[in-house]
Amino acid sequence: MRVLDASAFIDDYTTDDEMATVPAVREELTDDSSGYRFDALEGAGMRLHVPGEGPQTRVERAARTTGDLTELSGVDLRLLAAAFELDAVLVTDDYAMQNVADELDVATDGVSKAGIEERRDWDYQCQGCGRVYDEHRDRCEVCGSDLKRKNPQ
Ligand SMILES: [Zn+2]
Repeated sequence: MRVLDASAFIDDYTTDDEMATVPAVREELTDDSSGYRFDALEGAGMRLHVPGEGPQTRVERAARTTGDLTELSGVDLRLLAAAFELDAVLVTDDYAMQNVADELDVATDGVSKAGIEERRDWDYQCQGCGRVYDEHRDRCEVCGSDLKRKNPQ
């Protein structure tokens, strides 16, 4: 089974595998063609899954571990939880989602480009003193300011 994010409908991702998504994705499809595609797939048996609370908590914990929690929307977290709960492949091009999926041992597939080979190691930079860390922490150990993810070069 494959769990599809909004970009899969927008970019017309196709698969012979069974498909699933979360109901909230429909609201993210604002253009007619991706909306029709969603409705057609739903009519053809695509599963609309609402993940349970346990998997959602598990996903939030994983996203906090990888430092991706602030990058993810509520819909993103639900898609991750659905893929985790259904033991499905998550179809997304979003690096933060792929990163958290990897932490959860959820397989991913890219919509328009190949998925990341291995988990990206982000750098985090202190917003106060500018010190750079290679792993996520809650606060800078020098000055106590918040850390922010540095964009990869
Ligand atoms: Zn600092």
